[in-house]
Amino acid sequence: MGRLNGKTALVTAAGQGIGRASALAMAREGARVIATDINEAALADLAAQGVETCVLNVRDPAAITALAADLGRVDVLFNCAGFVANGSILECDEDQWAFSFDLNVTAAYRMCRAFLPAMIEGGAGSIINMASVASSVIAVPNRFVYSSTKAAVIGLTKSIAADFITKGIRCNAVCPGTVDTPSLQERMAASGDYEAARKAFLARQPTGKLAQAEDIAGLVVFLASDESAFVTGTANVIDGGWSNT
Ligand code: NAD
Repeated sequence: MGRLNGKTALVTAAGQGIGRASALAMAREGARVIATDINEAALADLAAQGVETCVLNVRDPAAITALAADLGRVDVLFNCAGFVANGSILECDEDQWAFSFDLNVTAAYRMCRAFLPAMIEGGAGSIINMASVASSVIAVPNRFVYSSTKAAVIGLTKSIAADFITKGIRCNAVCPGTVDTPSLQERMAASGDYEAARKAFLARQPTGKLAQAEDIAGLVVFLASDESAFVTGTANVIDGGWSNT
């Protein structure tokens, strides 16, 4: 018996990394999973693994409204889409600020607003929002706008949790540390010195290991399942001890 049997889960940014690993993990636990991403090619092989796919740009409000109307009620909504911008406030102009807030925060607002009414009508739902330890949890140098957006995701999460707990809705945030995903690999390569960048990421880890996307997917499955029925409004740190040292 799968831990998510009978549930429908919708995942954004499921083409690679944590979103993809979470979509596959939820499908393995018996959920009907609709994996969405802006990149159609990245979704291509998921269908063979029992996951439904659909192209969705979370920066497109009309597309979100249309998908919500089409799908109706989902039991689980995992808002995973996000972008890591580097730099301090001095490197962050208004366009970069607006882009990061739109993709990392406003997209989650749009998705929650579109899918909440049907969840409320059904009397149940679990929303999982992707934050980070780089947020209101800890300060990380050169992650100015990223950390600002992820702190906002935690606020958005707690607020929804408080407003809809009596309607059967749970809303929780996931706060990973450093996860070895395609975009992390790209960021290390883009630094100009891949080995030095990798060493710097590893140096932050008390275990000397980076998280894998599957490590985070395990937490997502728990928050999606009824095992976490009493868990809401939480910011779940999953960082291999980074923020505790
Ligand atoms: P990733 O960055 O490797 O992949 C991101 C995916 O998002 C891609 O498949 C891309 O096509 C998709 N995407 C980009 N723009 C989109 C849009 N407008 N609409 C829909 N999809 C879009 O994945 P990742 O590293 O696992 O990161 C996923 C989430 O986890 C992000 O919110 C990120 O901030 C967060 N996070 C990552 C880490 C890490 O170390 N990797 C740590 C903490 C939090």
